[in-house]
Amino acid sequence: LNSKNYILGAGLSGLICANYFKEYKVLERSDSVKINHRALLRFKSNELSKFINIRSFKAVNVRKSIYHKGKFYDKPDLTASILYSQKVSNTISDRSIWMEDGNHVIRYLPNYNLINELSLNTNVKCSKKIIKIDNGRITFSNGTIEAYDTIISTIPLNEMVKIVGIDDKDNKFKSKSIFTTVIKIKDCDFHHTVYIIDEDTSIYRISFVGNTVIFESMDRITKPIVYDFLTAFGLKQNMNDCVFDCFNFIHQYGKLFSIDRDVVKSILLYLTEEFNIYSLGRYAVWRNIMSEDLIKDILKIKEMIYCDKHKYDIKLGGS
Ligand SMILES: Cc1cc2nc3c(=O)[nH]c(=O)nc-3n(C[C@H](O)[C@H](O)[C@H](O)COP(=O)(O)OP(=O)(O)OC[C@H]3O[C@@H](n4cnc5c(N)ncnc54)[C@H](O)[C@@H]3O)c2cc1C
Repeated sequence: LNSKNYILGAGLSGLICANYFKEYKVLERSDSVKINHRALLRFKSNELSKFINIRSFKAVNVRKSIYHKGKFYDKPDLTASILYSQKVSNTISDRSIWMEDGNHVIRYLPNYNLINELSLNTNVKCSKKIIKIDNGRITFSNGTIEAYDTIISTIPLNEMVKIVGIDDKDNKFKSKSIFTTVIKIKDCDFHHTVYIIDEDTSIYRISFVGNTVIFESMDRITKPIVYDFLTAFGLKQNMNDCVFDCFNFIHQYGKLFSIDRDVVKSILLYLTEEFNIYSLGRYAVWRNIMSEDLIKDILKIKEMIYCDKHKYDIKLGGS
């Protein structure tokens, strides 16, 4: 294969894209594809599985509640919404704590090892850390160089600006790491998300997903805290039966701080016009898009590359 078209990054976006643009090779800096997303992944529809022709996602009824000072509440109110929003983003904005229809929603669950499934039919080259892109050439950290025609990048935008040499002295891309702890529990099969609005714990969401419980927190947590929550929720299992799949797994770009969209759009436009680089995915477009939004962006990129339609659609990554 002498493809000169590359997808940069073998995360969720890069692998979904590679299942659509099958002729593109994927270049990933890590020495292997991450086998697991290690976080909650629930979609609002089954569209993504149809789009890339993988096993159908499972529709589940997810109940939601709010936990505050030891009590559960079925419905959010303005105070709960503000407390939650400030806790997770230091801003007051609409968050998923609001429920579209009563206190439950239908969500679609991919296979827990979705990343594995996505990587099966793709051409991923690992240990390919890109350090520079210029004049139609990609330079890797080991000093090798490859020519390219077209690039679809899922590399976080703050890293990409350095790779192409854009000045970012004022360090405008700011983010905060978040942590996930994933536990498998015996004899457990239900779907429920609990929003924790208390300010005295950094845990903000606990989700039961079949036999798995996922804790999301702004800071590292301890095992006794995990057990305290499970006990407070009424779980009678012996805590020795809880198997930790991961503990305080760090998501480096967990929370992206928003910056002026016009600045982001002008950088994305510059990448496309100067380097033939199309940006895809939450961190590459620096916006909290959900994975299902990728379909729209992949189709837009296809039109831009193959039909020369709207040379660059500045709505990329949402309007
Ligand atoms: C706790 C949590 C819960 C979430 N829940 C949901 C959900 O329910 N639904 C949903 O749709 N989304 C959800 N998301 C968001 C979703 O996880 C992200 O949007 C998605 O993982 C982003 O994937 P990506 O491929 O764009 O980025 P990444 O996974 O960061 O992939 C980028 C890849 O580029 C590689 N790379 C970086 N720099 C270089 C370089 N210089 N050279 C080569 N390779 C490089 C990296 O190694 C990485 O593999 C959640 C996220 C978190 C943290």
